[in-house]
Amino acid sequence: MPELPEVEITVRRLDAALKGARVESVLAPGMNVMKTFEPSLEELVGREITAIRRVGKMPVVEFGDLALLIHLMSAGRLRVFGKRASPKDRASRVLVRLEDGRELRLREFGTRQRAWAKLLATDAVDADEAVATLGPEAWPPPPPEAFAAAIDQSRHLHPLLRHQRDIAGIGRSWVDEILWEARLSPFKQGSELSEEEMERLRAALHVLGDAIDHYEETVGEELPDKLPMPLKVHKREGEPCPRCGTTIEAVYFAEHQTNYCPHCQTGGRVLKDRRLSRLLK
Ligand SMILES: [Zn+2]
Repeated sequence: MPELPEVEITVRRLDAALKGARVESVLAPGMNVMKTFEPSLEELVGREITAIRRVGKMPVVEFGDLALLIHLMSAGRLRVFGKRASPKDRASRVLVRLEDGRELRLREFGTRQRAWAKLLATDAVDADEAVATLGPEAWPPPPPEAFAAAIDQSRHLHPLLRHQRDIAGIGRSWVDEILWEARLSPFKQGSELSEEEMERLRAALHVLGDAIDHYEETVGEELPDKLPMPLKVHKREGEPCPRCGTTIEAVYFAEHQTNYCPHCQTGGRVLKDRRLSRLLK
């Protein structure tokens, strides 16, 4: 799933490529993709794309005083193409056809249709339920008090950091990197953190900014569907920890795999799998 750094580089590239382009037509072939009906997509015809930005993990495409708020969910991708999608392309969800022949496409891979979009007044985006309920943005890092207020909860750090209503932008990949950088266990609770650990966790959010910098250097004007992510621990079980050389372990938290270094993060303990269903597979 695209997380804050991936969505950030996506909107930067799309903004540079599409600002000023005029809309010829808009189609929503995805069943149920549009979560709003008024104003209709027809209202976008003839308008220019004025900005493409991000809030949390959600891209926002602005057309003057109207904006398309998009949730990519786990398998959605937003890309520009030089020509129109084939009507047979079953991944198409929303197609913004531009007068210059290009097409901004929201596509979704896999069988499930979960990505969605809302057409809203631009000045109403912040008040939309999906935006208004977000916690502070994870990058740039929130001020220390705001961060501590978001994290000081009796919940495990792994789900807590991924919960958009507590802090916005982090998902399954970057949570592992942030916790490894902060040398904290994924099963430590937010309310158990000392002041020093809280600041270490906040400081570790720089990995998100580093990733954006990495993408700025490595990603050209054309975005691939899947960015090669500069991950050090996520999905790297069995490999040596880049900091201490200890073998990186994997543990399942509900449905999600998390990776960590036992030496750096859990006082040497290898965590027991907490997902019973895994044993049945
Ligand atoms: Zn280590």
